[in-house]
Amino acid sequence: MQTAVETKTHKNFINNEWVESETKETIKSINPANKSEIVGYVQNSTKSDLDKAVQAAHQAKKTWRKMGQSARGQLLFKAANILEENLDVIAETMTREMGKTLPEAKGETARGVAILRYYAGEGMRKEGDVIPSSDKDALMLTKRSPLGVVGVITPWNFPVAIPIWKVAPALVYGNTVVLKPASEAAVTAAKVVECFEKAGFPDGVVNFITGSGSVIGQALIEHPLLNAITFTGSETVGEGVAKAAASKGIKYQLEMGGKNPVIVARDAELDKAVEAVISGAFRSTGQKCTATSRVIVESEVYEDFKEKLVEATKKITVGDGLAEGIWMGPCASESQFKTVQSYIKKGKEEGAVLILGGEPLKGEEFDRGFYISPAIFDDVKPDMAIAQEEIFGPVIGLIKAANLENAIEMANNTKYGLSASIFTSNIGALLEFVDEIDAGLVRVNAESAGVELQAPFGGMKASSTGSREQGEAAKEFFTAIKTVFIKA
Ligand code: NAD
Repeated sequence: MQTAVETKTHKNFINNEWVESETKETIKSINPANKSEIVGYVQNSTKSDLDKAVQAAHQAKKTWRKMGQSARGQLLFKAANILEENLDVIAETMTREMGKTLPEAKGETARGVAILRYYAGEGMRKEGDVIPSSDKDALMLTKRSPLGVVGVITPWNFPVAIPIWKVAPALVYGNTVVLKPASEAAVTAAKVVECFEKAGFPDGVVNFITGSGSVIGQALIEHPLLNAITFTGSETVGEGVAKAAASKGIKYQLEMGGKNPVIVARDAELDKAVEAVISGAFRSTGQKCTATSRVIVESEVYEDFKEKLVEATKKITVGDGLAEGIWMGPCASESQFKTVQSYIKKGKEEGAVLILGGEPLKGEEFDRGFYISPAIFDDVKPDMAIAQEEIFGPVIGLIKAANLENAIEMANNTKYGLSASIFTSNIGALLEFVDEIDAGLVRVNAESAGVELQAPFGGMKASSTGSREQGEAAKEFFTAIKTVFIKA
């Protein structure tokens, strides 16, 4: 059991051994709430290290596939129990490494445990269907088969849940994996991999390698022995993943950005809408792909809603996510901190009116981290950059709509389509929204962020390749269907 958060150097995990990179170079991971605190070090790996990881996964393919789905599920149950035993240490590491508050980090780690148990249960569910044949002497069936070696590339914003919701289904359906996490949260990911190690997977089934995205990530997606790739991250990198996968003809899955709208209709319960917008926009410092970033409000209730939103936002406590009573932590890195400030500047230049926050917080407590106060822009026009581009920070743009039709039209007017929500008590309005909105996650009287683990997760348009993660939907990506015809 991991008993304390300690600063140490984490190695790559290849073929069931923790190994150093051949360069012996490391990457430092720091605490965004306190830049002088080093959370740990991970390996700065080379292409040759990556090749060893993929070779190990390739060698392990056959034995793992033949082990059987039920036995594979049993190992996931073990991993779930070990993760649960280590929940406090892993959650604290996450808070120190990427800044989300400790209750949120604990919630995410508990979600990781639940996902592992869900897919462990999949070990006992069906692998295919029997289809009636027109030949009375034949048996016709479908059988799900693993794809082989799956490359898993993950971002820093959910360093426990995202790797697990990709790795767990990949494993139970019989694939071996090479996981490459984002460097900004790789120490947390290494601690998750320790749980897989302790669960006792056979050699080469779970491999973990750290390093720069442009070196290791790129080498992974280009590796000739890779059979599939699942990626969550930015659109720019996603495009490269798609190209590399398409050139090799392998299956790929991309989950990328969002510019998620919330519509507040004239008949909405405003207090509930305010609460949901605040949670959706500012939890995790706005660094969720499903975070609320545009709030489109019907003109009749615009001023009332704005006033309530501003008053409620003023109550948000910002600080080190480990401290009691802190509601919002820092930006996860210096680069995020700078990006948010550049969008605040851009929004002002475009003519939007910054009515609250958006400033780096000052004072001894704040100067040591990447703290920014939650920001609200008024008078945002739908074509402004702050209404079109993903900011990935604690910034809301308020947009006035003439009516519901106009609100939905503006909500759909971005290249993204991940999550969207409406607050209304009118059944006609909500049905119209469900039909007309371009989003993979459609939410009514609920915040834009959040989806239960047994439900399909993914977006439309530039947010996703259209395939879905989580729940039963993951089976579609991580398996291939064989149609088997057996003649007596
Ligand atoms: P990023 O694209 O910078 O990095 C994601 C991963 O890709 C990292 O592991 C990185 O090292 C790796 N990478 C970088 N260059 C690469 C290359 N050339 N080849 C292969 N891999 C490479 O994204 P990020 O900053 O870590 O995460 C933030 C982004 O992730 C946001 O756009 C956010 O919306 C998105 N995101 C989407 C979802 C979703 O489910 N839709 C969930 C969380 C985050």
